Amino acid sequence: MTNSINEKVRCLIIGSGPAGYTAAIYASRANLSPVLYEGIQPGGQLTTTTDVENFPGYPEGVTGPELMEDLKQQAARFGADMRIGIATKTDLSAAPYKVTIDGEKVIETETLIIATGATAKYLGLPDENKYAGMGVSACATCDGFFYRKKTVAVVGGGDTACEEALYLASLAKQVYLIVRKPYLRASKVMQERVMKASNITVLFEHNTVGLFGEDGVEGAHLVKRMGEPDEEKVDIAIDGFFLAIGHKPNSDIFKPWIETDEVGYIKTIPGTPKTKVPGVFAAGDVADPHYRQAITAAGSGCAAAIEAERYLSEMGK
Ligand code: NDP
Repeated sequence: MTNSINEKVRCLIIGSGPAGYTAAIYASRANLSPVLYEGIQPGGQLTTTTDVENFPGYPEGVTGPELMEDLKQQAARFGADMRIGIATKTDLSAAPYKVTIDGEKVIETETLIIATGATAKYLGLPDENKYAGMGVSACATCDGFFYRKKTVAVVGGGDTACEEALYLASLAKQVYLIVRKPYLRASKVMQERVMKASNITVLFEHNTVGLFGEDGVEGAHLVKRMGEPDEEKVDIAIDGFFLAIGHKPNSDIFKPWIETDEVGYIKTIPGTPKTKVPGVFAAGDVADPHYRQAITAAGSGCAAAIEAERYLSEMGK
């Protein structure tokens, strides 16, 4: 790394979702004087959802942006230093660790909490943006409740898509599972469950090419056997359109130093937020292929800050 050190801190947190802010609350209360960089999407994935009804402590529900603002204010109250900026490069070869912000500023830190989250993959259709928060979602557990007794579609053929389709089938009247191949990629047990569900219709060999609706999603334009001589246009009437074609953990800049699984999720020592690099912790969706919930992310952010505090005190820093 050629850039010189601009600042030395005891605890650097990267990411501003529930994991990052919760880590900041705990780290500042433990006098670690944490510095948090908000990253590409300040507030994280929850800022793109509407109502959050499953975060404990909000009996009437709360909007995603309000929840994130509350968490941020709570961290600010204890003195967490929260800044706009994106971590662009890391050098975790030896402590203290170096993190480059926005390609220029280099911060040297004793402990690092990686809370950079994961980004849901979208198909890349302009209609996904047009109907964002108006019928398009990438999280059935978050938004499924709003589609009780309605008709929804889930795109994808993996375990996530099957899981989301089954979850939605317990709430909605009808679920379409839109699968681009003639088969499901999901595990056998998930496939069987989907095939047995009376209100799930699997549309094999279908691709989504657009959405339509006046004030929200009212349907999807599909193409069956796209590109084949017998290609066929199919429209389905739906109230909600759920993407389940995978997530991309935001772990690229840590990969030279930190172990990830084949998808890119950071591997931590089971039951802890510890990575194999001492003093470097991972919390929230970047290290969680299983639950991906705001509350589990917050919990792991808390654990990461506690571990950072213990690490520093063991090191006498
Ligand atoms: P996967 O990568 O397993 O599956 C993604 C699915 O989305 C595939 O069916 C893929 O189609 C489809 N897809 C990708 N891009 C597009 C596109 N542009 N248009 C249409 N379809 C598309 O991701 P998952 O999130 O399902 O799973 C990730 C990992 O997590 C897996 O290892 C999975 O087993 C695991 N998991 C396990 C669970 C469990 O055990 N309960 C629950 C959830 C996840 P194609 O097949 O054609 O490539």
